[in-house]
Amino acid sequence: MARYLGSACRLCRREGTKLFLKGDRCFSEKCAVEERAYPPGMHGQGRARFSDYGVQLREKQKVKRMYGLLEHQFRTTFDRASRMKGRAGENLLILLERRLDNVVFRMGFATSRNEARQLIKHGHFRIDGKKAATPSIQVRPGQVISLRERSQKVERITAALDTLEGRSLPQWLEIDKDNFAGTVKQLPMREDITLPIDEQLIVELYSR
Ligand code: SF4
Repeated sequence: MARYLGSACRLCRREGTKLFLKGDRCFSEKCAVEERAYPPGMHGQGRARFSDYGVQLREKQKVKRMYGLLEHQFRTTFDRASRMKGRAGENLLILLERRLDNVVFRMGFATSRNEARQLIKHGHFRIDGKKAATPSIQVRPGQVISLRERSQKVERITAALDTLEGRSLPQWLEIDKDNFAGTVKQLPMREDITLPIDEQLIVELYSR
């Protein structure tokens, strides 16, 4: 399936929540969810009623879009989460949080996960000094994510780091802005993921 190339804000409005897909704009008054808090389309302002299946589907779509995954990538991640010890829903969220593109975004090197993914593919980042150009890499405790030396002057990255103060850094990550590097202190836990997600609905959807 091809990657979605339409309006990112439309996806947020469809899910009725901010998915933070457009960097700085998401933190401004121009956010479309703030301006038009109803689904897109001709019947967007009508009353929507969802079946149980519809509610579960919307929750899955919301999380998938938030982390910028395609359906088969999301399903593969869920299958992996189901095989791990513990609760499948929690494992799923932790696997998503541990993705390199999410970590680069959380550390403040990019203003959105989409931007982080693009920067990683362009080879700007290192993990423990080795080139890391795959956004789906799962980071591990103790690893250091750093910016390649000649990328330390890239304006969009330095500008993103400058806006970090406005966002909260999860406690499982540490950032050393002066050295353009961040450390994974520990694995994330469910409590660290403060996004409005009911992962049990996704488990129920995939258990049908
Ligand atoms: Fe979503 Fe960001 Fe657009 Fe707001 S500005 S609707 S959070 S993508």
